Formats: sequence, structure tokens, C-alpha cells
Amino acid sequence: MTERPMIQISLPATGEEEWQACREPLMSGWLTQGPKVAAFEQAFAERHRVDHALATTSCTTGLHLILAGMGIGPGDEVIVPAFTWVATANVVLYCGATPVFADVDRETYNVDPADVARKVTARTKAVIAVHLFGLCADMAAIRAAVPDGVRIIEDAACAAGAAWRGTPAGGLGDAAAFSFHPRKSVTTGEGGMVTTNDSELAETMARLRNHGASVSEEQRHRGPKPYILPDFNLLGFNYRMTDLQGAVGLVQLGKLDRFIAERQHFAERYRDGLQRLGWLRMPRFGESGGHAWQAFVTYVDPETAPMPRNALMEHLKAAGISTRPGTHAIPTLGYYRERFGISPDEFPGSRDCDANTMAIPLHNRMNAEDYDYVIETLCAL
Ligand SMILES: *Cc1c(COP(=O)(O)O)cnc(C)c1O
Repeated sequence: MTERPMIQISLPATGEEEWQACREPLMSGWLTQGPKVAAFEQAFAERHRVDHALATTSCTTGLHLILAGMGIGPGDEVIVPAFTWVATANVVLYCGATPVFADVDRETYNVDPADVARKVTARTKAVIAVHLFGLCADMAAIRAAVPDGVRIIEDAACAAGAAWRGTPAGGLGDAAAFSFHPRKSVTTGEGGMVTTNDSELAETMARLRNHGASVSEEQRHRGPKPYILPDFNLLGFNYRMTDLQGAVGLVQLGKLDRFIAERQHFAERYRDGLQRLGWLRMPRFGESGGHAWQAFVTYVDPETAPMPRNALMEHLKAAGISTRPGTHAIPTLGYYRERFGISPDEFPGSRDCDANTMAIPLHNRMNAEDYDYVIETLCAL
């Protein structure tokens, strides 16, 4: 057995500053959505160059808020990649709409615009373009693949700080949702953010986030009265972020660019050290500075690798290196298999990525020796 501590696949880079940031809300007693969340939203909107940012409890609830805010419901279809985190498809079902899967490209792991075009029907209301692992999807090709009027939603869960052709993620479609789960590069424990440049949609989502509450007609006319509650003429949710999380998010957002620059640096070190292994394909790097590097996901070539991916993952674990499959092909998951009975064979790219991708450790608590150890261990095979 190895004596070095396990190199984790991912660890949140939080510490003293985040700890101190929680002091003010805790001392003042303003714990739910309040001034810290407002400051976090404003800073996030500025960093991603969008008009509106609304903090939520997660990316999943953020995506749900977007679909609900767009009025997507029963009878509507939403195109989603077949290889992505399950939440991308689940949110479509929350609205009573139908997820329609499109295959992904094996090189970028992102949705294949040609397959999106094939999946369009008269019922298609939206496409959820996922920026998987921090690499932006080809937004122009996706836009061109669908008729005008079909909304483009970014699942930017992995893409805080990413950019496509110079424009930050979050403003590349009609609306976007980000995640602050600890597996992402900046975190609030759980948490999310929706962004849009559509003021009407932002207003609707702000109401839906808070139980559907709006200022009532009576209140509008008679001014604030202690006995008047808001009106509730939308079926809303409680998707508000706490001010404790807002305070942590603000500190984390201030470190985002440094985190990404460090990840980019070590992604290049991995590439330089590993690309001579013909059997281990490196992820696409994308345009300069555009990749947010939520994860470094390799592809283990089943034809030429010294052992199959799963055996390799076991081997690395025994050597003290934690790995994970990139993500999963949703049609292979039990609920989707039983409810929709779609054959994963219809999605050869997704199926292949499901079986052969392997994320290796990349996070802001690793040091150069950790990366070199991963490289040496792989090169010794
Ligand atoms: C992490 C992730 C989500 C879910 O984010 P939560 O904040 O945990 O709800 C959705 N989509 C993708 C692509 C993700 O990676």
C-alpha cells in the first residue's frame, strides 16, 4: 500500500476567508436571501457580463426555474444531451415536458449539433446546451440547428468563468444556470445561479423563486400596509439561497479567475506529460482562456489501453489516485430505461463516453508533486 494520502478527484478550496464571511450574517441574524445574496448576484452578473443574475438553491432548481419561467410544460419537448449529469433531463420532467436526447461528440463531450437538428419536431420548445466539464458547447451551431423561437438554455453547471468566442458563459443563450456544488470550481456547499439578458424572464423567475409572490394590486395602490400580504398568482417554489451561502459565494467568486488559471496551468502539465500515451486521449482545450476546467476528463481507448478503463481506475485507486467516470449516459439509468425504454445504442457517442471516460484529479488543493505523481503513475503502465 501507498504511504502518500489519497489524491482526491476534487476538493473544494474553502478556508479561513469563507469562514470569516459567515460571521456577519450569523451575528446580524439575516440568514435567508438578503444583502449578501444581492451582492453575490451583482458581482456574478458583472463577471459574466449579463444583465440579470438570480441565486438559487442549486443548478438543478435554477434550470427548473428557467423552464418554468419560459412556460415550458406538458406537450412540449426539450432537447438535452444523452451524456450529461442526470439533472439536465430531470428538470424537463419536473415541468411535465418530454426530454428528447441528442448524442454527444466524442472529442468535446458536448452535444452534437447535427443530432440536435435531427431531433427537432413541431413540439420542440428549447434545447439545453451543456458546457460539460467547463468547455463551452458550440453555441452558433446549436442555434443554427433549431428553428427561430426555440429557446437555448445553457446548463453552465461546470462553466463558471468559461467563455465561448470571447463571450462569457451565462450570456450565450436565452438563460443559463450555474452550480456551486463542491464538485464545481467555486462553491457555496449547495447553490446555483441563473443568468439572463431577458428582463421579463428575470422578473418571472424572481417571483417563481419566492413562491410566486408579487406586489398585489392593493399594495401597489395603497402603499405598504402591515396587513397586506403579497399576491400569489403564479405557482412558485422556494428556491432562495441563504445569505450565509451568499457571503461564501462572494468570497469564492473573487477567487474564480485564480482558480481557473491554476487549473489551466496544471491541465497543460497533464497534457504535456500524458499526451505521448497513445491510448489515453486528452480532453479538448478549446479556445485560449475559454475552458473553465471543472474537471480533466480523459478517454481510455478500449482498443489500445494496457487494461480496460475500470481495471485502470482500480489500479489508480490502489496507487492512491482517485478517479471517476466523466459522467453518465442518461438513457442507461434505471428510471429512464424503465420509463422511456430508449436503447443506449441509439447514442453511440454517449455510450462510448459513459464506458470509457475517466476524470483524473484536478482541483485547487493539489500541488505540483501531486500532478507529477499522477503523470508518473500513468506513464509507468
Ligand atoms: C453538477 C451538475 C448539475 C447539477 O448541479 P447542482 O447544483 O448539484 O444541482 C447539472 N448539470 C451538470 C452538467 C452538472 O455537472
